Amino acid sequence: MVILLLSLAATISAQEAPMLTLREGGLAVTLAPEAGPIERRAAELLCEELARRSNLTVGIGTAPARYALQIGGAAQGLATDGFRLQLQPDADGLMRIDGHSPSGIVAGAGKLLRLLRYGDGYVKVPPVTVEDAPQLPVRGIYFATHFFNFYHVAPLEEIDRVIEDFALWGGNQLMVWFDMHHFASFQDPAAQAHFARLKHMGDTAHGLGMQFGIAFLANEGYDTSPVELRADPRTGTAHYERELCPSKPGAMELIGRWQAEELAAFPQVDFLWMWPYDQGGCACTDCAPWAANGYLKASEQLARLYRERFPEGKRWLSTWLLDQVNAKGEYEGLFRYVREQEPDWFEGYVIGTHFDWIPQPLLERPFPERYPMAAFPEISMYRMNPWGEHGANPLPGFNTRLAEKLRGNIVGGWPYSEGIYEDLNKWYWCRFYWDPDVVTDDALAEYAAFYLSPDVAEDAVRLFQLLEQGHARNGWLVEDLTGAREAWALAQAIDARLAPWARTSWRWRLLYLRAAIDGILQDRGFNDPQAREELRLLCAELVAIYHADNTFIRPPELPAPPDPRNVAFGKPVTVSSTQVGYEDRATHLTDGVLAQHDSENFWCHDPQEEETATVTLDLGEVLPLSEVRLQFRGLHGVYWFIPETLDIEVSTDGERFALVPGQRAVPLEGDVYQADPWVYPIGTAARYVRLLLGKSQHTGDQFEGVVELVEVEARRQ
Ligand SMILES: [Zn+2]
Repeated sequence: MVILLLSLAATISAQEAPMLTLREGGLAVTLAPEAGPIERRAAELLCEELARRSNLTVGIGTAPARYALQIGGAAQGLATDGFRLQLQPDADGLMRIDGHSPSGIVAGAGKLLRLLRYGDGYVKVPPVTVEDAPQLPVRGIYFATHFFNFYHVAPLEEIDRVIEDFALWGGNQLMVWFDMHHFASFQDPAAQAHFARLKHMGDTAHGLGMQFGIAFLANEGYDTSPVELRADPRTGTAHYERELCPSKPGAMELIGRWQAEELAAFPQVDFLWMWPYDQGGCACTDCAPWAANGYLKASEQLARLYRERFPEGKRWLSTWLLDQVNAKGEYEGLFRYVREQEPDWFEGYVIGTHFDWIPQPLLERPFPERYPMAAFPEISMYRMNPWGEHGANPLPGFNTRLAEKLRGNIVGGWPYSEGIYEDLNKWYWCRFYWDPDVVTDDALAEYAAFYLSPDVAEDAVRLFQLLEQGHARNGWLVEDLTGAREAWALAQAIDARLAPWARTSWRWRLLYLRAAIDGILQDRGFNDPQAREELRLLCAELVAIYHADNTFIRPPELPAPPDPRNVAFGKPVTVSSTQVGYEDRATHLTDGVLAQHDSENFWCHDPQEEETATVTLDLGEVLPLSEVRLQFRGLHGVYWFIPETLDIEVSTDGERFALVPGQRAVPLEGDVYQADPWVYPIGTAARYVRLLLGKSQHTGDQFEGVVELVEVEARRQ
């Protein structure tokens, strides 16, 4: 027998014997005497997958067969949550999945599923022994359940499948948040319905041997919170302004009553998050600096209330956005408190990473053994707006870079998940927490082999990398489509080689749709009528998979096709200056993309270089023009970055310009924003049109003096 050392925790041994082929009636599944309901669930998941992929009917503990797989035995000598697969049948034809814990048994069943090879009417079992155990204790996921996203609205059976898959990968924690500000009170029927949904997720997680956690803002409040007790919202990140100020008399009691009421409703909460911001926080002088003062008072009370209800539970203090918004000295103050008080009311930090940046103070925190860190990597919203808008968002390079920085510093973590389009990222992090030395391409290939086919694994890994290369986008504007044609060709080749169960699965469809959309965008763009029709169909399928009928987390509307009377569309533009960091923005002025399609598609002048600015269109030939149309810039629903004055000049040769007479009214900064363009009649023939933009109406912050425009049109007579 050969023993190969896979990693510190995993051993696999194999004989040269061929794979064992099992057909209908050839395999029985039985439960070990000590198996409980979680081990039974693992057995059911295994049987369901054999039916789905290979059309095999395998019952649990039913008719005897030549071979039997026994699930759920306790194994000696395994590390926490480890498992042992013995797939070389003994003399009685018995194979086994044994484990250290129920969660380990589920993870072992998942590993077995990934080792099997499936055909129509048969399955092949490799004659191996595999022993493996996770290296990090926290292998979690956070489901955001808001904005009518997938977790908020999808049928519970579909949510359950996602949780089950996560447990089969070796995941062991599910975290959710009951966001109070959406509701009038806990008794609000809408609140009760949402609570029932979260409780169902907790029940599913517990049924798979996972732990279930609840997040709280430390000073969380309902929509009806008393106005006189509310927090000072000038934190720099407050959205809803329903939170309470812990320093006001009576507020701590009310916060505690609401939190205790919610905790009492859940049958079992295995761990707790205490959270400072986005919502959350108080900017008043009595609470400042928030994370070193008011936050600690409110969190300590929450931690105590939680322990009264769940004495064994673990409590995590979040450092999300510390020192990133208005309050300063938060890390310093927090760590001074920890050094001096050595608080016993929390057991570790949820660390606030942002993109792939980790705040340095966290790496130098006091008592790292006593207060370990667990990560909260953002895998859903990174450089795609709206999130998941065009399907799957594989980010293997990004994940690997962030994991590289975290390795050795954390005890695990919970990625931030907004929906199922980030499944491959979710998988990567689960594998990383299981084994921080995991090789990214190996993890990608294992995913592809299991969810698609071993035959396409290599092509699929290439596809994932190409999709990441073309990932960054805003609405319909994709930064880099150079690999899209290759990705689309690969996707079609893979599609042709998949079994029906894989070809029609949501995992593959989300990858396939993304490749199809990007392929069209590279080849034909979104203005071609036939391309638009195809894009609409592809997007409709995404909406159906996401259940995204009522959310912005879906493909946005296609920009209106350019009006043929607008002769400026796609024409070159020269600007007198562009702000540093916004280079190449001048082309946005004639790209036909309006603010209603993409709020980030604008040009901005550089006030460091000049007070006023010019924008010059070259229409390529002298044309009879009736009017110029400008779409100005809006932010937060009002006009922003508007020039005080506007004049228009024209030229036939680009040398001599003449002012076109006329009153040129402009919007008033701060007035309610109208997306309709402002129309300026000119009634003249010209090849060049030059806008003279006066100094900015915008003053009073770091963007003082900036002039911006979204779109410039010139209409022919
Ligand atoms: Zn306060």
